[in-house]
Amino acid sequence: MNDEPNKFARWRREMVENQIIARGVTDPLVIRAMTQAPRHLFVSEAMVDSAYGDFPLPIGEGQTISQPFIIAEMTQRLELTGFERVLEIGTGSGYQAAVLSQIVYKVYTIERNNTLFLQTRKLFDRLKYHNIVTRYSDGTQGWKQEGPFDAIIVTAGGNQIPAPLVEQLAMGGRLVMPVGGHHSQELLKVEKTENGITTTNLGGCRFVKLIGQHGWPE
Ligand code: SAH
Repeated sequence: MNDEPNKFARWRREMVENQIIARGVTDPLVIRAMTQAPRHLFVSEAMVDSAYGDFPLPIGEGQTISQPFIIAEMTQRLELTGFERVLEIGTGSGYQAAVLSQIVYKVYTIERNNTLFLQTRKLFDRLKYHNIVTRYSDGTQGWKQEGPFDAIIVTAGGNQIPAPLVEQLAMGGRLVMPVGGHHSQELLKVEKTENGITTTNLGGCRFVKLIGQHGWPE
């Protein structure tokens, strides 16, 4: 008998209990999405058995998929209810987009690395993630034709908050992104309100570099 699916479902439940709920994530939509999203399908064959571990994993091209807790924390900070159109910068493996797609109406995700872009677009097709749309471009410029977005998540660390992303944020919208130096950043939450922009520092983190016109140079 093939008990693989059960094994992964059990690992996922343990991941959500021990790494996510135990550390204070309470949003039921985030908890449900992370209990469902098959993280092991977004990593290479060799990494499948480590997919639900409490650490980031390499995804090729010098990039990494964040630790599950960071994904949960960033997603919770977007304060999603289910109806949103969300923009993600840094598609990478596609796992963060898959988590978002199980919560919201539509996910727009941009990747600047062509190899990762093609590979992940194929995976979304194969796994039938029909509410994720992908784009190969510099995400620091946003996706003007599809904006404004209810929420924006940047999964690479920038040297500043890209102005086009703030412009493309809907009134009342939230943007979460790491900003800082090459090796460590602060996770920032930006909110667009009638009275202007507010920025909250959520604490230290480490991400690969956001490279582009409104990010780090190549
Ligand atoms: N969200 C991803 C994390 C990938 S790591 C996941 O769940 O796996 C960050 C990704 O951001 C890398 O794939 C990198 O190529 C991409 N990236 C860096 N700068 C970018 C930019 N300006 N626009 C789009 N993608 C970018």
